[in-house]
Amino acid sequence: MTKKILFLGPAGSGKGTQSAKLAEKFGIEHLSTGDLIRGEIKSGSELGNKVKSIVEAGQLVSDDIVNEIVKAKVANLDAFILDGYPRTKGQAEFFSTVSDLDFIFDLEVDSEALIERLTGRRMCGKENDKNCKGTFHTKFNPPQAEGKCDLCGSPLYQRKDDTEEAINKRLGGYEAETGAPLNEFYGAKVSKVNANRKPDEVFADIESKLQVSV
Ligand code: AMP
Repeated sequence: MTKKILFLGPAGSGKGTQSAKLAEKFGIEHLSTGDLIRGEIKSGSELGNKVKSIVEAGQLVSDDIVNEIVKAKVANLDAFILDGYPRTKGQAEFFSTVSDLDFIFDLEVDSEALIERLTGRRMCGKENDKNCKGTFHTKFNPPQAEGKCDLCGSPLYQRKDDTEEAINKRLGGYEAETGAPLNEFYGAKVSKVNANRKPDEVFADIESKLQVSV
């Protein structure tokens, strides 16, 4: 499937989960700016050191930095899934000069559910190397062996910005910085998805909207 897909939605709405499912099923590249930035931080690169404290506090990295990261990544791709970018009107304007988009899904979740989803989220320790994308939840999707990834056995960890304080900051800024301006920017192109449901149900809805014969 040669499609350029964007997921909108607050932290915890399931963008990463749905992107990973689509990427796996249809062999499309999944570009998560959060993963890319965490990878830079983990590698100790100059860029990573520059943005570390911003990311861990739950704030946004500057448009210039993420724009350049994404531009370099999509340069030679004719299909991709964007997860976590664009996140500001400035990024959306910039990205429109880089590529077009075929589908935009806005994952909508009630705000009470988001906090519970995020505080219980546990990631595979290999996630930053992009070797494994295992994501679990202490209550909703516990791993078979506590603290260990079902997929590769690596230890699970909690993201530093999945604490209640950082989560409140991330969710608080979302509507003003991302949700409202990007829905206005993309207008009728945005397809709303009720993401209060289980991941497989949300995925089925997205697939039907993509009109893909499975
Ligand atoms: P995520 O994994 O998408 O929740 O992103 C984690 C963190 O990475 C965010 O809280 C920001 O600090 C940073 N980040 C990811 N994508 C962007 C973006 N498009 N613009 C600015 N900061 C970003």
